[in-house]
Amino acid sequence: MTRENRIDCDVLVVGGGPAGLSAARELRARGVARVLVVERETQAGGVPRHCHHTGFGLRDLHRAFTGPRYADELVGRAIDSGVQILTGTTITSLEKDGEARATNASGLHVVNSRAVLLASGARERPRSARLVAGDRPPGVFTTGQLQQWVYVHALPVGSCALVVGAEHVSFSAMLTLRHAHVKTLALVTDLEAQQSVAPFALAARRFFGVPVWTRTRLVAINGRERVREVVLEDVTTGIRRVEPVDVVVFTGDWIPENELARRAGVDIDPGTLGPASDIGGRTNVVSIYATGNLLHPVETADVATLRSREVARVLANDLEVGLPSSTVKPITVEVEPPLSWVWPNRFDPSSPARRVALRTKTFSQSRLLVARQEGREFSRVRLGRVVPNRSLGVDGAFLAAAQPDRGPVWLSLG
Ligand SMILES: Cc1cc2nc3c(=O)[nH]c(=O)nc-3n(C[C@H](O)[C@H](O)[C@H](O)COP(=O)(O)OP(=O)(O)OC[C@H]3O[C@@H](n4cnc5c(N)ncnc54)[C@H](O)[C@@H]3O)c2cc1C
Repeated sequence: MTRENRIDCDVLVVGGGPAGLSAARELRARGVARVLVVERETQAGGVPRHCHHTGFGLRDLHRAFTGPRYADELVGRAIDSGVQILTGTTITSLEKDGEARATNASGLHVVNSRAVLLASGARERPRSARLVAGDRPPGVFTTGQLQQWVYVHALPVGSCALVVGAEHVSFSAMLTLRHAHVKTLALVTDLEAQQSVAPFALAARRFFGVPVWTRTRLVAINGRERVREVVLEDVTTGIRRVEPVDVVVFTGDWIPENELARRAGVDIDPGTLGPASDIGGRTNVVSIYATGNLLHPVETADVATLRSREVARVLANDLEVGLPSSTVKPITVEVEPPLSWVWPNRFDPSSPARRVALRTKTFSQSRLLVARQEGREFSRVRLGRVVPNRSLGVDGAFLAAAQPDRGPVWLSLG
């Protein structure tokens, strides 16, 4: 029979990416004695460890770091603050009472804590889930897989690639391909415009000769031994054409790593697909909190770290006064299309979030955000330009008039 080792701590942080590391450091700064970060990879640091371009840390560390330097910085700061980091270890199950099971090279461990903070991040939807017709040859990646392939294993990728998607991460994939000496034929999006910031698209075209083909959809990948060509469709005319490439990179379309949360009985928000939570990362399970891209797929790393510090402050306070700290039943917030998600998606009406992040599926300009309960409108705010796959921050004061006894708040565009 396998013997299980026992580990005790005050807070178990699942995931050693930017969110988990920053929250852990903040918990230590707030006097939480035993903070344990468990990370399944052999090094902590999360996604930035595999992103060798610069642009990390602008809002939290006020400098531009490459991904690996940024990851090192966060790991160093966490360790200096007294956080214990256990790498090469996966949390494989989590109970409602917070008891977790971990596995690593030295065996099985039962981790007991006063609270668990889930910071397991998000991943891109793989090709198999994207309903693209054709063959299943080698040469098809997500951005995450491509980065591991190129930066971690230094394996050859191919010679000419199509990038599916035109948001921030799609331009990052283009840079990774360039690093691997692969030509990017184009970025394709079925929307009417790219969804990153204008300078990225301009730089891609001017300096690297990479266009963004808008209103264009990938319908099939052909090739047996290797990707040989892709079939693209103009979504306006329906006209199809074939382009020869030997690499396809699927970017964006994120799914939070919500498996542990779901199994522990945490409510999953239908929009974000991450745990439904308030601004403090509190879920419906008293001892389970969540943070980072698990909650809102995906934001930049600095946004994830700044929000994580806020979650850690709430958690440290809850631990001090005793869980659960709030006796007020939270109100849930849900969205109607074309809105795709809102976070926080639970809130305590006596202290709504100062800022609410929203996403939509379509471009729009100067629309009204309307808040309703039981079909009755109680608040409206005018929005600026809304771009799909990018968050829009809205002052949370518009939720203050919501009534605790009137069920969920529904947000829609008027
Ligand atoms: C290609 C790409 C380019 C990007 N470029 C930029 C950029 O230029 N600038 C920027 O600011 N942001 C960028 N980002 C976004 C940034 O990487 C994320 O916002 C940030 O990593 C989110 O941090 P996180 O801790 O929530 O998640 P992650 O970084 O995903 O960390 C989660 C960690 O949890 C671990 N984990 C998951 N499940 C378990 C488990 N069961 N047990 C143990 N460990 C587990 C994972 O191994 C992982 O290390 C980019 C992202 C991608 C994918």
